[in-house]
Amino acid sequence: MSENITERRRLTRNHMYRLIYNSKEGISKQQIAEDMGCSLPTVHQNIAELLEADLIKQGEFQPSNGGRPAIGYVTNDDVGIAIGVSVSAKHIRFTAVDIKLRVLAAKKIQAEFENISKAGETIAAGLEEFIDDNKLDRGKLLGVGITIPAVIDNANGIIMISPTLNVKNTNIKDLTHRIPYPVFVDNDGTCAGEAEAFSGQRDDFAYLFMEYGIGGAVYMNGKKYAGHNNRSAEFGHICVHPGGLKCSCGKRGCLEAYCGALRFTKELGVTVDEFFKELEDGDKDYEEIWNDVLTHLASGINIIRMIFDGPVILGGFVSEYIEPYLPRLRELAAEKNTFERDGNYISLGKFYKNGGMLGGACHFVERFVDEI
Ligand SMILES: [Zn+2]
Repeated sequence: MSENITERRRLTRNHMYRLIYNSKEGISKQQIAEDMGCSLPTVHQNIAELLEADLIKQGEFQPSNGGRPAIGYVTNDDVGIAIGVSVSAKHIRFTAVDIKLRVLAAKKIQAEFENISKAGETIAAGLEEFIDDNKLDRGKLLGVGITIPAVIDNANGIIMISPTLNVKNTNIKDLTHRIPYPVFVDNDGTCAGEAEAFSGQRDDFAYLFMEYGIGGAVYMNGKKYAGHNNRSAEFGHICVHPGGLKCSCGKRGCLEAYCGALRFTKELGVTVDEFFKELEDGDKDYEEIWNDVLTHLASGINIIRMIFDGPVILGGFVSEYIEPYLPRLRELAAEKNTFERDGNYISLGKFYKNGGMLGGACHFVERFVDEI
């Protein structure tokens, strides 16, 4: 009984903390009482506890209705730090964020992927250097979220398969055992979708993650749908061209083989940045390849739309370059669709190259907020 009361009190405090966390300019006691439908003394007591724990602070804020400045409360955003790490075929990247996912520091290491254990070594050494170089407080480090282009079985601690990195059935510990902080590993596209969901994206969306390979995530009612084998939203291996280009998975005609950045960088021997620069400058060969990418991308997106019937959001570092081509992509998707006249259900996410890492870090921020 008393445990229930304690838990109920904690949930009230947690709800209050979330209101303060989500308020952009600060929120007053009166507003909290109105929003939560509870008494001012209850608000007062919980605010005192949150102030005592240094989780919130008091400030003056200007209400949006233009009234007199009022005393409000905002969260103390430097109480915790989370670090996201991304492993790709060519780089290892680090991003440190505060509890509002604001970036505090970032670093990229050039590291050709060899195997999981070697990547684990590079991450462990790089992480300590990253923390020291940026004077990050280890005492505030909530955890390290590592994202990797692979199907992950966290329940059994296995990296099941990564066609992009040519990895199969490897223990997650081979990647993480040298890291002396709480650590979490998940698929890069899933993590990037998590960051979009956390930052207030709609409850239902399909997320198409475009980097060297292609991945994704599906969110329904604000929750990720993982599938029976943790392979939900492996959009990269949807067949968009039967018998077509060979994919890293060994099959032919996959979306990844047509639209993954490896296709239009490796083939031409250029970086992603160089590719889009040439494209913008009107190079005819690049245009031809890009039109083919867009056509197949529209096919893949149309399949996702047909199955899911919800918004499709594009993310990953390639999505940073897509904006000028979005109208054409929408047109191509609409041409393929039986029911719709436009492709306005396709949009760009909030995060580009940082999305995966922010999502990895987000895992620890969410846990921190949940436990208050
Ligand atoms: Zn494939």
